[in-house]
Amino acid sequence: MSTSQQRAPHCSRWWFGTWDRLVNGALGICGEPKIVVPNGRLAVDFHLHTSFSHCSTSRPDDILLRASALGLTAIAVMDHHYVEGALETVRRAEELKRLRMLPESFLVVPGVELNSTIGHVGALFVTEDLPEKLRPEKIVRAIHEAGGLAVAVHPYHSSGIGDAVFDAPFDAVEIECGSVFDPRLAQRNRTLALDPRLAQAAKIGGSDAHYLKAVGSCYTVVDTESVSIEGLRAAILSGKCSAHSTDFAGRLQKILGLVPKLR
Ligand SMILES: [Zn+2]
Ligand SMILES: [Zn+2]
Repeated sequence: MSTSQQRAPHCSRWWFGTWDRLVNGALGICGEPKIVVPNGRLAVDFHLHTSFSHCSTSRPDDILLRASALGLTAIAVMDHHYVEGALETVRRAEELKRLRMLPESFLVVPGVELNSTIGHVGALFVTEDLPEKLRPEKIVRAIHEAGGLAVAVHPYHSSGIGDAVFDAPFDAVEIECGSVFDPRLAQRNRTLALDPRLAQAAKIGGSDAHYLKAVGSCYTVVDTESVSIEGLRAAILSGKCSAHSTDFAGRLQKILGLVPKLR
């Protein structure tokens, strides 16, 4: 498999560092997400952004250490457009393990979040950049041809693909997503869990965290006997996943009143 040939643009806005500190400070007041992992299962945040996304300054090392401290067993990096941030996070995880700062069993799934013609589509288990600006079903085909799994990330969201979630053979649907603040949209995503048209797709959760303190706000409990990248992949393909939310939006709303109540 080829790897990313293009350099992902890091966040270049001069004010973003200050904004990032302010948001993380505010999120810190909301309390830490409580991640509950039943015996023998793994907790995975399948949707994270690093400083290799133009809209995040979270460094891979900080994300890895925080994820591990919260009780997550694995993360997936899905930076916008390019896989470079995910590949760097995989490398940093190996270095932190060598330094005994990260458990040997901690896993990093490389991925990317792609722009289709109508909204975002996630790719997991990919190590190469993929085409964008195509219909979702064509992007799903490209992900499968690259050996990856296709995720309908936050289908009902301003950046989601909406009802086009039914038009392509997605391997997973993100029914709990930390960046969906509108309670009506969050509920629409949850109802996809019972939709027979998506019976073949695993139901997963991911934080979509662009800020360090949002890591783990939504997550997936995975039932696998193999704590390995292949074990995670097999669990998605066999639907042995359940999506969970730490009610990030609710905690934000309660404490800060920052999230508009949409009617
Ligand atoms: Zn997105
Ligand atoms: Zn995202």
